[in-house]
Order: sequence, then C-alpha cells, then structure tokens
Amino acid sequence: MKTALVTGANKGIGYEIAAGLGALGYRVGVGARDQTRRDAAVTRLREAGADAFGVPLDVTDDESVAAAAELVAEHAGRLDALVNNAGITGGAPQQPSTVDLDVIRTVLETNVLGVIRVTNALLPLLRRSPSPRIVNVSSTVGSLTRQSAAESATTSGPVAVAYSPSKTLLNAVMVQYVRELAGTNVLVNAACPGYVATDLNGFRGVRTPQEGAATAIRLATLPDGGPTGGFFEDAGVVSW
Ligand code: NAP
Repeated sequence: MKTALVTGANKGIGYEIAAGLGALGYRVGVGARDQTRRDAAVTRLREAGADAFGVPLDVTDDESVAAAAELVAEHAGRLDALVNNAGITGGAPQQPSTVDLDVIRTVLETNVLGVIRVTNALLPLLRRSPSPRIVNVSSTVGSLTRQSAAESATTSGPVAVAYSPSKTLLNAVMVQYVRELAGTNVLVNAACPGYVATDLNGFRGVRTPQEGAATAIRLATLPDGGPTGGFFEDAGVVSW
C-alpha cells in the first residue's frame, strides 16, 4: 500500500487531496496543527472509506515537523507522496508601499520555509519509495508572466506583496530541488488549484475544493517517467 502525507489536510483543498488519494487506495497522513480539526478530518475520511491517520504538524515548527516524519516512519516505513498544501495569504491589504514586513516574514515562513522544512524532513522516507512524488500547492498568482500580463482578475488576483511572491519563490525553490534530485526517481511538481472557495479567500472562489484538488492528486500519483519540475493547472502547463 502506498502512503501519502498531505499538509494542511484538515480542510479546504488539502482535505480533498487527502480524500482523493484515500479513494485511490493510498494510506493518507492528515497533516494538521489543530488536534480537534485534525481528528474531525480523520474521522470524516475514515467514514468515507479512506485509510487515514492523523499527523500533528505545524510546518513552521522544526520539532513538530521532525515528530511528524517520525510518525510517518512508524506508520508506514516510507513515503510515496508528499503534498505540501498548507498555506496562508497573510490577509489584506498587501500593498507593497504600506505592507508590514512582519506579514511578509510570516507568509514566507509558512508558504516557503515550511515547504522546505517539511520536504527535507520527509525526503529520507520518500527515497525509500520506488516512485516518490512531491507536489507543492502553488498558485498562478506566483506566475510572474501572469502577474505582469494581468491577464484576468482570476489569475492575477489582488496586489499582494506577501502572498504572490511567496508562491513565486516556492516555484523557484522547487526548481532547485528538481536540479538536486535530477537522476533520481523523485518527481517534484507544482500545482495550482484555481480559484477555489475556501477559508483562504472567504469562500469567494468559484471552484469547489474537490475541483481544486484534482491537479495535485494527478501529480502525486504520476507514473514513472512522468514530468518533473513542472507547474500545472487543470488546463495544462502554467508559464513561470
Ligand atoms: P484553507 O482552507 O485556508 O486551508 C489552509 C490549510 O493550511 C489549513 O488546513 C490550515 O490549517 C493549514 N495551515 C496553515 N498554516 C499552517 C501551518 N503553519 N502548519 C500546518 N498547517 C497550516 O486554504 P486552501 O484554499 O485550501 O489552501 C490550500 C493551498 O492552496 C494553499 O497553499 C493555498 O495557497 C493554495 N491555493 C489556494 C487557492 C484558493 O483559491 N483557495 C488558490 C491558489 C492556491 P488550520 O486549519 O490549522 O489553519
């Protein structure tokens, strides 16, 4: 049986990624920092037939992340798919000229350093898998091409000097992982879920969390020889 860990899996897109992987027969670690919300998600997933287990996890905390890796090791001995989904926006407004620098620090700590912290803690377990996959849940608002072109309100979003660049940096960090892992069987890709109705945007998104989960699920379950170092949305490749 394959095992996946999804960060921020207690609600929103992360929950649906966990549900989707569970439905595909993966044992799913539900990474979440709040015990009540984590337990509720695990219960719901189990009721839906998934083999889910709770993983206490705050991606900003070294000890929490190390303990999460130990828990996954105890449960499964290896990890086949890591989905770095946990993320925050830092709130609004985020005009560059007036932003509180602490907002940028906080967003980067979760959206970028959190992903590096979790990935590095789990890489030893991923390397034990015959087909390891890492998926970073990014966003098209991190696409410099789309931000510059301001193609549409849906893909460019509001001016957000913490959130949008955090996803740009996340993508840039991913490219360095891909370079380091070249020649291994670890496939690393970024997924944009689209504009999804979740807590993150006050449920203003136009897609369901289930729809938003689809690309990440596809990338977490890529066959051998699948793409690596790509940035994808449902419609296909996203330009950097
Ligand atoms: P959400 O409903 O707010 O869920 C975010 C999840 O991240 C929650 O489970 C939250 O846990 C968790 N989280 C936040 N900080 C954490 C930390 N320090 N440690 C562990 N977990 C943490 O938002 P969502 O829309 O599903 O977002 C999921 C991902 O999709 C994010 O990376 C987001 O940037 C990305 N995304 C979303 C959209 C969209 O339209 N919604 C579009 C593009 C990309 P708590 O419940 O404990 O806060």
